Amino acid sequence: MDAHVHMINRQFYQGGEITDSYSDGQVDVPRMKKGGLNAIFFSLYSTEQYYPGRFEVKSTIQLMDLALRQLEKHRDQIALALNGSDIDRISKSGRIAAFVDLEGGFDLDGDLGVLRTLYRLGMRSVMLVAHNHTNNFADSCCGEQKWSGINQRGREVIREMNRLGMLINVAHASNQTILQTVEASSDPIIFSHGGSRHFIDIPRNLSDGAAKNIAAKGGVICLQFGNTFNNPAYYDTLPKNRVFGDVTEMLKRFAVFKTMQEVDREVARQFPGRPAGVAPEIAMRIDQLVAVIDYWVNLVGEDHVGLGSDLDGGPELPVGMKDIGDYSQIIDAIRRKGYSDTRVRKIAGLNLLRLVRQVTEKR
Ligand SMILES: [Zn+2]
Repeated sequence: MDAHVHMINRQFYQGGEITDSYSDGQVDVPRMKKGGLNAIFFSLYSTEQYYPGRFEVKSTIQLMDLALRQLEKHRDQIALALNGSDIDRISKSGRIAAFVDLEGGFDLDGDLGVLRTLYRLGMRSVMLVAHNHTNNFADSCCGEQKWSGINQRGREVIREMNRLGMLINVAHASNQTILQTVEASSDPIIFSHGGSRHFIDIPRNLSDGAAKNIAAKGGVICLQFGNTFNNPAYYDTLPKNRVFGDVTEMLKRFAVFKTMQEVDREVARQFPGRPAGVAPEIAMRIDQLVAVIDYWVNLVGEDHVGLGSDLDGGPELPVGMKDIGDYSQIIDAIRRKGYSDTRVRKIAGLNLLRLVRQVTEKR
């Protein structure tokens, strides 16, 4: 089970089916089967370009609508999972279980009615921050530090997500936001995709302190598969003339668009996304990803680490991997570390399944 796989945005802009096989993408149903995936966090992405015009709620609803229509149409191969038991049942029937998750902001103001409506539609996991942008209730990793973490509204969003049984995702959150969310939430939380600051010290990666806190409350931290977050030799080649993940300029550019259709037209150009090329002499080996996993396992224990590849979200994959069909390569690399079968199975999905159960099945 993977905690972060980008779905639907491509079909929203370019058409096509999630069951088509795309030669210019990293994820589709045929490739998931080849990769041996039983379940995924089926992540929709409300992109930042919709925020200046305040179109984020409509964008989220449109993606959710297409997600539900696609999952219904292809339910013989991939089906909507609302809780841990659904994931079990669907994967045992030989299909892929889709646990719907949102990356980006569901509503920049944290409207609880919007949140509840998304829950009723079947969304079970939501990012607290608005991707790299600081919304009106929680500081992101890479935007303005407005609230020194979360404010009162942020606490209300967390309380409502706890009450509903929705998983709180703190990927893209600031360190303060993560620490305060762990404290405020009665449920364990997830950091669905990212690297460790021990390897690359950027705000988007997870600090050791935050990792330990998330784990101490029963949460799970998941590794993103890209060079940018995990390979210092590659990170060092990136231009350092701006703050990592800063979207201020982009938000200014998109503020000129007055209608959603204009924004759609511009955003459509970025799909399907293509990962940046990495020079072969510095390209990351799969064992470098395993080194981060091993670091985390030593730091927080084998019950709190998982995989959140971020496929089709632009990870520059390690040498030898090109899409989700190559998933077994990462599993094999973890096995080569000498980990027991039990430990490998936990990291490859059972930790995530436990977390989903705990959050979605407490009533
Ligand atoms: Zn992301």
